[in-house]
Amino acid sequence: MRVLRFAATAFALAILVSVSAFAPMAAADPLLAYGARIAGDEARTRIVIDMDRAPAFTVHYLDNPVRIVVDLPATAFGFPAGDLKPAGLFKDIRFGTMDADSARIVLTAKKPVKLVAAKVQADESGKGQRLVLDAEMLPAEQFSELVKKQSWTNGDTAEDVGPVEPTQKADPNTFLVAVDAGHGGIDAGATGTDGTTQEKDITLAFAKMLADKLNAQSGIKAFLTRDKDQYLTLSERVTIARQNHASLFISLHADTLKQKDIRGATVYTISDKASDRLAGEVADRENNSDQIAGAESQAQPAAVTDILMDLTRRETQAFSISLAQDVLSSFNGQISMINNPHRHAGFQVLTAPDVPSILLELGFLSNKEDEKLLLDPDWRQKVADRLTEAVKQYRVSIIANGG
Ligand SMILES: [Zn+2]
Repeated sequence: MRVLRFAATAFALAILVSVSAFAPMAAADPLLAYGARIAGDEARTRIVIDMDRAPAFTVHYLDNPVRIVVDLPATAFGFPAGDLKPAGLFKDIRFGTMDADSARIVLTAKKPVKLVAAKVQADESGKGQRLVLDAEMLPAEQFSELVKKQSWTNGDTAEDVGPVEPTQKADPNTFLVAVDAGHGGIDAGATGTDGTTQEKDITLAFAKMLADKLNAQSGIKAFLTRDKDQYLTLSERVTIARQNHASLFISLHADTLKQKDIRGATVYTISDKASDRLAGEVADRENNSDQIAGAESQAQPAAVTDILMDLTRRETQAFSISLAQDVLSSFNGQISMINNPHRHAGFQVLTAPDVPSILLELGFLSNKEDEKLLLDPDWRQKVADRLTEAVKQYRVSIIANGG
């Protein structure tokens, strides 16, 4: 008994020592952070911290390395550090007490980032509050501006949190099209029958041609998600389109199939369930792009229940289908297409909730005839012309419907 009592006393003493060493004037009633979660990828990452009360907080940015600093009042962090393991955009996460009245969370990022939202929400039970931090990748120049502009006085949070500025400066009446050349960099995509033709080169050359043709139209402006041989994750492609408020997103591909006799163009829109086995296989192969380059394929940030977002998603889906139909009618009789040329499957690159999106398989590199066409400048011109007509037709119908 005596030994036990001694042990208990020693334990109490140890606590006292650690408390007096690290928090000599602990705040009377610190906030309690009792849970934490992180989810997302290298384009968007969400951090949620469960707290017993609503915290006041401020946000700042530091460069070299890129960091987001979130300052909080005195806070007791009561969750295991493993619950906030670095993921997505962040390579290091630290949190702890600064002094008697303040605590800090430091998020070190892999690339320039910005909090596009930082808010406190009541949790479902109504008993606690959640600090929700939504980070997005940011063009490097915008990050430098952010660091330069900010002051370190309290109350400047609002300036430092908010949407990423579009890099595409277009007047609001311009119809902006994001043209996405599939694959790139370390991810070559499919290869042709003799092994020399690479999908990433075909998609880039075609994307440039299409963007030029769209830019020659009045009232339409196109931009490329990549304009060189560069790797982008699927989520980065979606995020670039969203940050620029694109009116449309067109992802271009030329994949291979096991069935070498299948040829012709296919237009894909998104759906939870694939329309058929072939569509499912194509989506699996395209979604594999992230794994090829070793990018994280984490679950997307858990959707906050948001009825408005659901409505947006449904509306966007209808617009995507309408664009796909415009492409098919423009191709009809002009460009060879596979049977049932409008198919759908769970393509990750088509997940923008607010940008109507299609994925176009121009043809299949597994088919010799298709490969010949894909390399033929005249055929490319013709397809790009038909696609431009489809975009024009779509735009006219949107304007006619007051969109
Ligand atoms: Zn592809």
